[in-house]
Amino acid sequence: MEPVSTAITYYENYTPVGDVSVLGLCLVLLVLMKVAYNVHTKNYRILQAMIGSLMVTTISSMMYHILLNSLGEVAPIWIYLTRGLTHFGYLLILFLYVRYVMFPLQLDEREGKVYVMIAHAGLVFFTLYDVIGTVTKLGYYITADGEIHEGFIYLFVVSYFYFFVLIAWLLLVYRGRIIRQLLYGIMGTFLISITMMGIQGSHRQMSFTSVCFLFPILTLFYMIHSNPYNIEIGSVNVDAFEDMITYANRRHEERYLMCLYMPGFEGTGKHYPPEIQQLVRAFAHEFFKGAVLFQISNGRMALVITTKKNPDYIEGGRRMLENFYEAYKKFQLDYKIVYLPTEERISAKHDYIRFLQFVESKMEINSVMIAGEQEFADFHRMNYVLSQLDDIKKTGNLNDPRIEVFCQPVLNIATGKYDTAEALMRMRLPETGMVFPDVFIPIAEEYNFIHMLSLIILFKTCLHIKKMLARGYHVQRISVNFSVGELREPSFCDDIKRIIKDVGIPNDKIAIEITESQNESEFRFVKERINELRKDGIKFYLDDFGTGYSNFERIMELPFDIIKFDRSLVIACGEDEKSEKMVSHLAGMFAALDYSLLYEGVETEEDEKKCIRMCAKYLQGYKYSKPVPIEELTDWFEKEAV
Ligand code: C2E
Ligand code: CA
Ligand code: CA
Repeated sequence: MEPVSTAITYYENYTPVGDVSVLGLCLVLLVLMKVAYNVHTKNYRILQAMIGSLMVTTISSMMYHILLNSLGEVAPIWIYLTRGLTHFGYLLILFLYVRYVMFPLQLDEREGKVYVMIAHAGLVFFTLYDVIGTVTKLGYYITADGEIHEGFIYLFVVSYFYFFVLIAWLLLVYRGRIIRQLLYGIMGTFLISITMMGIQGSHRQMSFTSVCFLFPILTLFYMIHSNPYNIEIGSVNVDAFEDMITYANRRHEERYLMCLYMPGFEGTGKHYPPEIQQLVRAFAHEFFKGAVLFQISNGRMALVITTKKNPDYIEGGRRMLENFYEAYKKFQLDYKIVYLPTEERISAKHDYIRFLQFVESKMEINSVMIAGEQEFADFHRMNYVLSQLDDIKKTGNLNDPRIEVFCQPVLNIATGKYDTAEALMRMRLPETGMVFPDVFIPIAEEYNFIHMLSLIILFKTCLHIKKMLARGYHVQRISVNFSVGELREPSFCDDIKRIIKDVGIPNDKIAIEITESQNESEFRFVKERINELRKDGIKFYLDDFGTGYSNFERIMELPFDIIKFDRSLVIACGEDEKSEKMVSHLAGMFAALDYSLLYEGVETEEDEKKCIRMCAKYLQGYKYSKPVPIEELTDWFEKEAV
């Protein structure tokens, strides 16, 4: 069969139905993408480029066929151009597809490099082949009297297979890395595309080529980028939340966020009752134009508005709050509400969810907060502290200058002298100066940096005790605080013993302060650790007794040397007789069981007298001294009599 006539039948059988449908479907996709708030990742942009290329290609394909019908009347250059563009467009989509699958196959730049190069080579080679074929008249060209010479008619089929084999190879070799469902989705769609290409080929058709290119795009869109609505409350999935704000920020559009947190629903699978669902749906649209509701977690929602579209958003927010209070009267569900404008630095880091959690953690229950400069500054300070903590842990230097030891001397009633003290941690950072424990200890505990910090304090305290002993001071011991969670560290006992031994002081110069454990499994750890370290002579204090719910049975099971009565018990004694009696009895009970009692937070003469009446062995508080740099402890301690 003559190649020329084969080509002619292909053109003659062309109908624009396929291309027109694809164009329509691409527009549908664009609408969906616009309203669905997809995350603007790199691969999302590749998908957008594929859809763009497909639209251009389809239009070009239609133009090409229209021009072919006027063969002889139009300059051949237009035919060459539209034909070349159509072929190039299809190849570009395949090329982009190869780039795209690097992501679900989890191939990084380095691993994927060779495949991207093969795809590049294919794109360049087949495009050049087309162009050179036309220029040299060895390939596709139109003669002066309007006759078409096809050249190698199967060029397009070969190029299509080239990419198909490359993609199939990638899927096969790296099938272990891709999510199963996605693998089957991609392979299934490819099979359908290939089959359809085959069927249209055997009918001498090319009208449905673009349709076959649309299928893989649909698969990716549906499986990876779809962002479903929660129909019940009319919210958009959280995935797109921070991305949408960042994206808006980049275009210098300001947004305003109104966030509702309901702790009763957080961390549960509970659905909102239907009345609340209805209320939320109404709230999302009643007060603002074009507001978008995001469900961030089960108990947390954020309504995002564009301030430009809602210049009176402050008033809108106020009305919304009024309505909210009305609803609250009825449902009585606990809440925290945060209003906040978008902020550059938080947008840049995609950090709104963490920011919200941060602000909420500082709020009272059932309150409203309008976050502003103060909160942003606190949050940035927290992040700064966090990065420093991370660095301290990574550096692993027991002598890290950023961590300082302060000490509060403790009065020993039996001798009337100061011979013990409590070590307290301070952080000194270049940007913020001194940071106090109430700021960084909770963060350090949450992010698992605390153990390194405690070891630094222990190390520096040991060094200083050694120095004081060498200078002849009488140091009975210094107590160091550890967080209960640290006792879970498998190396806990070894870390402590090693540091004391390396510095070279007796074990009984160190005591460890811990608070009561919160649960049974924690308790078991604590018990094991205390027993192991006490065998070596390290003392243990129970810290903050009286601040929580105490479990006496457990306390009795642990061999503490000293029970530290919290300042709140000292205060309670001054308030009424009943409390005083109770504390007095508690103290008597501990003393009878041979525990030594230390009272914390002794501020006045009166406090002191009361504590002494209540079996105190040790006293600590501002009455004697505030915590001072450990170097100043020599002002309090005395030299051993020689
Ligand atoms: P804590 O162990 O109960 O330490 C006693 C706190 O009470 C210290 O606050 C101290 O400055 C303060 N204080 C001392 N005397 C008085 C007084 O007469 N009146 C009042 N109102 N307060 C007094 P600081 O140093 O800010 O430490 C706060 C908490 O931070 C500590 O409470 C402890 O839980 C934690 N912390 C401090 N250093 C460390 C550490 O090295 N490791 C661990 N894990 N936690 C530490
Ligand atoms: Ca303590
Ligand atoms: Ca305490």
